[in-house]
Amino acid sequence: MIREHLLGRGIRDQAVIRAMREVPREAFIDETLLEYAYEDHPLSIAEGQTISQPYIVAYMTEALELSATDRVLEIGTGSGYAAAVLSRIVTTVYTVERLGSLASSARQRLDLLGYTNIVVHEGDGTLGWPEHAPYDAIVVTAGAPQIPKSLREQLAIGGRLVIPVGASSYLQMLVRVRRIAEHDYRTEELCGVRFVPLIGAEGW
Ligand code: SAM
Repeated sequence: MIREHLLGRGIRDQAVIRAMREVPREAFIDETLLEYAYEDHPLSIAEGQTISQPYIVAYMTEALELSATDRVLEIGTGSGYAAAVLSRIVTTVYTVERLGSLASSARQRLDLLGYTNIVVHEGDGTLGWPEHAPYDAIVVTAGAPQIPKSLREQLAIGGRLVIPVGASSYLQMLVRVRRIAEHDYRTEELCGVRFVPLIGAEGW
C-alpha cells in the first residue's frame, strides 16, 4: 500500500507516510473484508457509509500541511481510521460523526487500540465543534454542496480547511481553503473526488 498506492502516486510528506505505515487499516474494517484492507479502495462500513481509500486519506492529510503542534477537527468520523492517521501527526484530533452508532463504535475501537489524543463527538459536523475552535486544520470526509460558513469561521488565522464540494451529492471537487486574515480566505481546487454526502444544517 505504501510503496504502490502512496509513494507511487506522489505522496511525499514523511509524517503522512509514517502515520499511514503505523495505523493498521485492518482494525477499522469488517473481518469479512480483511483481504482488501491494504488495497486502494473505499470499503463499506456500517450504516451504508464507507472508509475512504488509503490514497485519498493520505492525499487529504498531506493537503492539510500539518505540524506536530496542530489541533485538528475532522468531520465524518466513520470507522475512525482517518482520525487515527491524523492523531499520529498532530497534538489533538477532534472528530464529529452524525450517526450515533458509528460515533460510539469508533470511540470504542480507538480506545481499544490505545489512541489517547482523539476526541469523538456525535453531532452535526456541518456546524463544526465551536467549543474547541479555532482549529489549525479542518478536514471534511463527506461531500458538501458548499463550504459551510461555520467551518470557515472555526479556522484559526493561517488555518487550512480541506473539503469535497460539489453540486452532485456523490461527485465533488476537493477544495483547500486557507484563512489568511480575519475576513480573508483563499480557495484552491485540488482534484476530483467521490464521497458520501455531508448531511446537516449546512450540508445536504
Ligand atoms: N473518515 C472516515 C473513516 O476514516 O472511516 C470515513 C468517513 S465516510 C466517507 C463519511 C462519514 O461522514 C460517514 O460516517 C457519515 O455518517 C459522516 N457524515 C455525514 N454527514 C455528517 C455530518 N453533518 N456531521 C458529521 N458526520 C457526517
